[in-house]
This record gives sequence, C-alpha cells and structure tokens, in this order.
Amino acid sequence: METQQVNPVDVLVLGAGMAGLAAAQILSRTNCTMRLIDKGHQVGGRVAARRIGTSLFDHGLQHFTARFAPFAQQLARWEREGKITRWANSFPGTDPLDSATSTPHYRVPGGMHLLPLSLASGMDVVLGCKALAVCQSTDGWHVHLDNGTKLQARALVVTLPAPQSIALMAAGGTVLPATIRDRLACINHARCLTVLAHVDGPTELPPPGAMHVGPEPLAWISDNHAKGVSEPPGAVTLQAGPEYSRQFWELGDDGVAFQLFGCAQKRIGRRLVSYQVKRWRMAYATSTIPETHLATDAPFPLVFAGDGMGGSRSEAAWMSGESAGQWMAERICRS
Ligand SMILES: Cc1cc2nc3c(=O)[nH]c(=O)nc-3n(C[C@H](O)[C@H](O)[C@H](O)COP(=O)(O)OP(=O)(O)OC[C@H]3O[C@@H](n4cnc5c(N)ncnc54)[C@H](O)[C@@H]3O)c2cc1C
Repeated sequence: METQQVNPVDVLVLGAGMAGLAAAQILSRTNCTMRLIDKGHQVGGRVAARRIGTSLFDHGLQHFTARFAPFAQQLARWEREGKITRWANSFPGTDPLDSATSTPHYRVPGGMHLLPLSLASGMDVVLGCKALAVCQSTDGWHVHLDNGTKLQARALVVTLPAPQSIALMAAGGTVLPATIRDRLACINHARCLTVLAHVDGPTELPPPGAMHVGPEPLAWISDNHAKGVSEPPGAVTLQAGPEYSRQFWELGDDGVAFQLFGCAQKRIGRRLVSYQVKRWRMAYATSTIPETHLATDAPFPLVFAGDGMGGSRSEAAWMSGESAGQWMAERICRS
C-alpha cells in the first residue's frame, strides 16, 4: 500500500480515552496545533456504551469515583456542567477493587459515551485509524496508520495501555530509554468478560439498580434502565471477576453468558432473552507505577500516559493525561 502523508501538526495524541482527552484539553489551551488519533469508531476507549436494538448498555466503565481532591474537583465541575450526575454513594456488596466506600459515584445519563463525546467537541480527532508503528525521523515523529497514511508531528503523547505502547514503539524501531521502557513494562491489566443481557422485563435489583456480587465468578450487575442509560427496561450489564475472566477467556460466548447469567438470575428475577459478550483484554490496571507520566525530550518530545500510571481506573487515567499534557505544553510553548 502506498503511504500518504497528511499535513503535519505540532503534537499528535495517540488514544482518545480518558488519558488522551485529558492531555488534549490541556494542549488545546496552548497555541500549538494538535490532532487526536484513535482506532475506535468513537472517542472514550473503555468509557463506552453499546446500543443493541433499542437498548443501550454501559459496557466498560460503570461509574466515576474520586479518591483524591483534584479528580473530585474535576467530577464536581462536570456535575455543574451537567455532563455527569450522582448515582449513589455506595452499592449493595463490596467492590474488591475500590476501597473508596461511601463517596459519590457518578453516572452519565444517556450512556457513558456521552462524556468523552462532549470532552472531544471541537477537537481535531481522527477515528477508525489504528497506529501500527512510531518511527523517529530528522523532523520529528512519524506515525504509520493502518489505512496507509503517515502522520508527522514534532511531539507525541501516547496514551494506549502500556503493553500496547511498548509494542507500537518497537514496531517502528524506536528504542526507548531503559528508564521509560522498564517502567512501562511494570504496568499490567486484568481482563474482564462482560455480558450484555436482554431480559424479559424490569429487574428486581434493589435500588440504585446495581450491585457488587463476587468477587468471583460474577463481580457486578447493573440495570441500565434503572441507571438512566437505556430507555427500554431489561438491559443488564454483567461483569465477571478477573480470575474467572482469565480462566474462561477462551470459552465460547454461550458458555460465558449462561454461566454468568446463572449467577445473576435470582437477583435479576427475570428470564434471559438474548445476549452479547464483550471481551476486555485490558480492563483495569492491576500493577501500577507511582509516576503519573513518563517522558523524554530526546530526540523530540515524547510522553506516555494512561491508567496504571499514578494508580488505576479512570481517576488515574485522567490525572495521568493531565500531567502528560502539562509536561508537553511546557515543551511546545517554550520553543
Ligand atoms: C469492564 C470495565 C469496567 C470498568 N469499571 C470502571 C469503573 O467503574 N470505574 C473506573 O473508574 N474505572 C473503571 N474501569 C477502568 C477505566 O475504564 C480505565 O481505567 C480508563 O478508562 C482508562 O483510560 P485510558 O485513557 O488510560 O485508556 P483507554 O480508555 O483504553 O484509551 C486508550 C485508547 O487508545 C486507543 N488505541 C489503542 N491502541 C491504539 C492504536 N494502535 N492506534 C490508535 N488508537 C489506539 C483505544 O481505542 C482507546 O480509545 C473499567 C474498565 C473496564 C474495561
């Protein structure tokens, strides 16, 4: 395939999940030209909703919570702007991944995808293009996409999950300083098997319509109608625990759906009508590093961000993206 070159920009942001969008928000306040690239057909990454028929399911991230003040303030700002609303302070059962009990848990009325969509509004975003390789050149960074296009920028923000970032650089023969490569290699993610189930009527889940179950095999059940996501009732999201997801990753969709629904049926109190299974290979970071970003100036500015840096979940992803965006803004504005 012939390579086409597109107009260069000052900075390319790879990945338009929470980390990429946070970095882009900071960079959009500078005078640099910036473009976001994502392989998905929507922005948001793991902050996602899927429509099946007339029903809508939050099928990745389920709620936003903050452990630390800066993200709590960010959530409060989004609440004031009407982007998110409070869902509950806690849910029946205990969350094995989150000790932040009895703090506000936020939802997005109409589906999780709407928050990243509004954050990306007005930005130069290229969707549906997978970055295959990042190469170093004399004039900056070259990013090769799967549609045969080559993008060029003087500076690069990479916000893919850490194992994918390492692979992307290696594919272009870009050798990272050991201080960055070794730290990225410390970040690992757990898998999550998710079932989007249609049932034959409103569920019997107690208020607020979602609960922790497990931790294994089933971790979480959520009624998307009670949550204000799906207009029609009977749209349920089931998420497996990390150990079940690892062990039964290769099991066919029918096996996963029947096993997980079997664990949920008594609580849901309805019959399974149809389902889809979503396999999240990198759901949430289980091994993390304390650094909120990893960066180098040579030969051109390059910074990595994403969940697993400074913690896990959306809070760490957002704060990491902001921290990377600030680092980059200082480089770009100075020169
Ligand atoms: C099932 C599930 C439930 C969760 N529940 C919660 C929860 O309740 N609360 C919470 O706080 N967190 C939760 N999380 C975790 C949270 O969603 C993530 O920590 C956070 O969204 C990560 O953001 P990110 O920007 O670092 O990564 P991502 O969202 O993964 O963004 C990376 C982006 O890079 C893109 N990309 C990847 N490779 C390429 C490539 N080669 N070329 C171009 N683009 C590429 C992807 O399409 C993606 O959009 C959950 C996650 C899952 C999967």
